[in-house]
Amino acid sequence: MKAEIISVGTELLLGHTIDTDAAYLSQELAVIGFDVLHRCTVGDNRGRLAESLRQALGRSDLVVLIGGLGPTGDDLTKETAAEVCGKHLVMDEESRSRIESYFRGRECGESQWKQAMLPEGCHVLRNDFGTAPGCLFRSGGGCLVALLPGPPSECEPMVRHMLIPALRRYSDSVIASLMIRTFGIGEGAAAERTADLMQSENPTVAPYAKESEMFLRVTAKAANLQAAESMCRAMAEQVAARLGHCVYDVNTDGSSQSCLEQTVVRLLTERGLTVSFAESCTGGLLAKRLTDVPGASSVLHMSFVTYANEAKHQLLGVPWELLEQYGAVSEPVARAMAEGVRRVSGSSIGVGVTGIAGPDGGTPEKPVGLVYLAVCDGTHTWVRRMNAPARFKSRASIRFRAASTALDLVRRCVCGLPMEEEPV
Ligand code: ATP
Repeated sequence: MKAEIISVGTELLLGHTIDTDAAYLSQELAVIGFDVLHRCTVGDNRGRLAESLRQALGRSDLVVLIGGLGPTGDDLTKETAAEVCGKHLVMDEESRSRIESYFRGRECGESQWKQAMLPEGCHVLRNDFGTAPGCLFRSGGGCLVALLPGPPSECEPMVRHMLIPALRRYSDSVIASLMIRTFGIGEGAAAERTADLMQSENPTVAPYAKESEMFLRVTAKAANLQAAESMCRAMAEQVAARLGHCVYDVNTDGSSQSCLEQTVVRLLTERGLTVSFAESCTGGLLAKRLTDVPGASSVLHMSFVTYANEAKHQLLGVPWELLEQYGAVSEPVARAMAEGVRRVSGSSIGVGVTGIAGPDGGTPEKPVGLVYLAVCDGTHTWVRRMNAPARFKSRASIRFRAASTALDLVRRCVCGLPMEEEPV
């Protein structure tokens, strides 16, 4: 089923309002098997709206118009859509009485009733969060047409609870997707390893790079959810096998939020392990990110922000000789920080991070972006040298990437995976 969305509102055209409704609707329609092939925005102008709608009716099975259902003069979506689709507007008594009870005890202008005038024979989409109902009907030419209110607080629940359930019966397919989350592999290397799989048309495999991570979304279309999910799982297994230890999570949560920290909290919890941090250049970011995850209290023991050399020495026992001989940003100091914090805290795992976040402080031998990360489990201590590529040289991204790398090293340590860097 081909779908098209027309967002109506001059404020959208001017860029004063971001079209979040259409983005949300596109995602929801995709899940029930509607292919959104066109999206457009028109101002509050009857002529141009009619023109866009006529074009859409000629090429789509479903057209959804968003916005312009309200009581004011510039709200002309419904009138225009009814005219173009050859429908009369008639009073919907239930919507009228809902508006009446909404305004009970308050002044309600005549213009409010206009909102209860809906295309004859339409399926009413109740508005539980405002006054303008939405509707779904067939145009004279047989195309499905839906009208939705603009405010996201009204539009989103109406899409979720009213429109999608009503549309399901028109769709002959559903979509399922899985997100494969990786850390430590570049987009180029991932694309090379999965080039043939990325050619697949159903399921599709699409990469997204975000911060220092790379996600691959696998999406399958099938007659029912079970079939779509099993196609996704089969493809995700193949993709994951190609990417190896860089894959830290595969799940159905489509959000692109980073969840490396969630994975670390889960792994440590499952194994009854604790971790403590000694942070220098990340200044507490590592602890902050871990404690963003509910349940972190059972795995994070303590965290030191040891910025000054004195702090590294006094709190973690880093020998002065190491600091003087190699400097604070060095492999031996990172190692001593990880071992020191593990000893002081009594945690299962100690992590040390020391680096140059910039913009100043770099030298030819130790440039901005150089970070040493160490992880100690009591038997072994591994140290990783991280040198941020040029495009990640901002202070914020160096710190974020360093924290991510530390989290990934903890994950690898806990799972007994190789601690060396993967090809990027
Ligand atoms: P109202 O009853 O509030 O008039 P409406 O259906 O007529 O609702 P509009 O008047 O077009 O909708 O827009 C109301 C508000 O909703 C806008 O000021 C804007 O903040 C927001 N809005 C409109 N369309 C969108 C959209 N596509 N995405 C996000 N927000 C939107």
